[in-house]
Amino acid sequence: MSLVPTRVQLNRPLPPLTYLAPEGLPVGVRVRVRVRNSLAVGLAMGPDPAPPAAKLRPVEAVIDPFPLLPPKLRELQAFAARYYGCLEAHLLPLSLPQALLPHWEADEDGQRLSFHRDRGAWDVLADLGEAWHRDPSILPTLLHRPVLRGAGFTEVRLTGAPHPPRVTPAQAKILLALEEAGGALMEPELLEAAGVGASVLGTLEKRGLVARMKRVDLLAQRREAGADRTVILNDEQGVALEAVAPGTFGVHLLQGVTGSGKTEVYLALAERVLAAGRRVLWLVPEIGLTARLLDRLEARFPGRIAVGHAGLNAGEKHGDVVRLLFNGADLFVGVRNAVMAPLRDIGLIVVDEEHEGSYKSEEHPRIHARDLAIKRAQLEGCPIVLGSATPSLESWQAAQSGRYRLIQLKQRPAGITLPAVEVVDLRDAYREMRRKVILTPLLMRALMDVLARGEQALLLLNRRGYENFWMCRACGRTLGCPHCAISLTYHRGDFRLRCHLCGHETVPPEACPDCGADHLRGVGEGTEQVEEHLKQLFPAARILRLDRDTTRRRGSFEAGLLAAETGEVDILVGTQMLAKGHTFPKLTLVGVLNADQGLKVADFRASERTFQLLTQVAGRAGRAELPGRVILQTYSPEHPAITFALAQDFEGFAASELPFREGLGYPPFTALSLYRAEADTPKEAREALETFRQHLSVPGLRVLGPLEAPVPRVRDRWRMHLLLKGTRGALGEVLARHPLDPSGPISLDRDPIQFG
Ligand code: ADP
Ligand code: ZN
Repeated sequence: MSLVPTRVQLNRPLPPLTYLAPEGLPVGVRVRVRVRNSLAVGLAMGPDPAPPAAKLRPVEAVIDPFPLLPPKLRELQAFAARYYGCLEAHLLPLSLPQALLPHWEADEDGQRLSFHRDRGAWDVLADLGEAWHRDPSILPTLLHRPVLRGAGFTEVRLTGAPHPPRVTPAQAKILLALEEAGGALMEPELLEAAGVGASVLGTLEKRGLVARMKRVDLLAQRREAGADRTVILNDEQGVALEAVAPGTFGVHLLQGVTGSGKTEVYLALAERVLAAGRRVLWLVPEIGLTARLLDRLEARFPGRIAVGHAGLNAGEKHGDVVRLLFNGADLFVGVRNAVMAPLRDIGLIVVDEEHEGSYKSEEHPRIHARDLAIKRAQLEGCPIVLGSATPSLESWQAAQSGRYRLIQLKQRPAGITLPAVEVVDLRDAYREMRRKVILTPLLMRALMDVLARGEQALLLLNRRGYENFWMCRACGRTLGCPHCAISLTYHRGDFRLRCHLCGHETVPPEACPDCGADHLRGVGEGTEQVEEHLKQLFPAARILRLDRDTTRRRGSFEAGLLAAETGEVDILVGTQMLAKGHTFPKLTLVGVLNADQGLKVADFRASERTFQLLTQVAGRAGRAELPGRVILQTYSPEHPAITFALAQDFEGFAASELPFREGLGYPPFTALSLYRAEADTPKEAREALETFRQHLSVPGLRVLGPLEAPVPRVRDRWRMHLLLKGTRGALGEVLARHPLDPSGPISLDRDPIQFG
């Protein structure tokens, strides 16, 4: 058996490396290789036609007998790697846990897989792999099915908290082992890898450097009454059902307000597809919103569902992936990365709340799950349904131009009326009261009415903390983060000034560090202050604040929601995490304290996001029998994002916003590629982008920059942006002609949605 130079991609910021590997090794199998002095898992990518002259190391082991990913999923990953400018090895963990190891002693017809390996018969194994993907039952012992039990089922993760200057050698071993494994490992594996005892873990956990997590079994949560009742579709829903042709690729945009019956349409479609023996991939923006959905799915398709989300620990993911690879689940519900789940024979893809930003990854690889879902449907030759009350303008424009098929549910569900929406001009309130106003008199009175009637109110303010920043009244200095170019936020609960980007925190100083005056003063209220204000105004009311600070502990957000749903809360205060998908039966008042807050950011989608947020939060009021009221406090009552949200008029908003986008050459009329450079100095970052810009050789592009990023420094790294506008084809051409060095200073964000 001969060894030949073979390219191997690692899931690291490195270009492909070359190793000696068995001749004929199929592309897409995992190998274990030595990099410097550690072992890593890599993806074999075929022979290297021009191997480096240096002496090559052999691979340590071949992990897989054949590629474990279903062929169409490998096609999707190859596409995504090209599109987003990353390596397939960077995408692999989204589909396959690293700990998933096939069993070489598995046999088929009495022949062990290791026998073929030892003879170098990779072609025999490749054929076997194809047969296995058609029918996994031919190799029933290929993958170990994990037994789910006790302590072995705890995962340890790095928390990402700032690193202290010193740790003990034993602690360092644990931190390094976690780092090496990509940030998380099952507890027993970790202790073995690090060679230390469990007490060290406890110490690290107390210091906040690692966290231990156990499974929260969503399917075992409480059952919603009536989840299993099947409904008779109304006429509109019937039309929607018939519009989605099974067995052929087509993109459908299903638009209808919350409660208009979109989920019932997805369920009816899923039922057809499952009856025809194919599978369903169902994407949701956040798993916290899906307890109710899972109830409905379990009731409708008992035992056929699997769930994937970021909160699962490594063992849980492992179990789910094995189940999918053995065709043990027919419907897979999951968040962003589920678009890469190893499901075969997909007959339908559902993307619920398709406009949600959480479908886009803000870390490398920066995939957009909705866009990849469309590509996946095309590869699988199946329909895809994108659903939303407030579709993204990208999807809406595609439906207007006929590329997607538009299906609308316009009937209001029985018993639900539009809430009455009112606007209060904060400028008037300020003129009258001559001081900062958190609650205008109108909102105050409305709150008192709600409390008097024993109903619920929700107040939204999209800023956590007590005060947004501290400023010295004598010299004008604001207290900023020493590592990032933003100001620190004051958190009164733990008496800290904290950086919301890097987590840096300090005890607030008594005097200004510059001029020494004791005139430091907080500016801009956050949710913590609103909560305190409410407690003073309504001492007898039960007030619950839900934001990132109060929901750090796993399950605490769900617990808070449950308390609100069951009527144990009178006033809910929180950030936008409260705006989405929840139903609070007694909620009759929604107050948005500063409705134009999101309009101030320098982002061409600011208006669209504000409209979506306001429409969604307004939809929370009066969902059951009680009529609802919505009060928007704002400094810009005339802004279209606010006036159309007032009328709950999505189409009007889209019609007013799209011409702006077209005029300025922004999506959906052009595509964007954002090249970001990060370096230790601003000069290095700028020069990297300038050099890149000078060499650009693709015609028909508009190039903006290099410009300072809106936050020019984060964690002591300087950031510059170069924005390319053009067709998707031209931007793809840029990537093909000017590939980025994965270990260089520039990274690419295609179709960016965050410009921070
Ligand atoms: P959406 O997904 O648009 O928010 P759902 O499908 O969840 O809407 O429907 C909202 C509620 O109305 C659910 O309780 C659902 O069971 C009910 N519902 C939907 N369609 C019908 C129908 N045709 N007949 C009776 N009830 C329905
Ligand atoms: Zn910082």
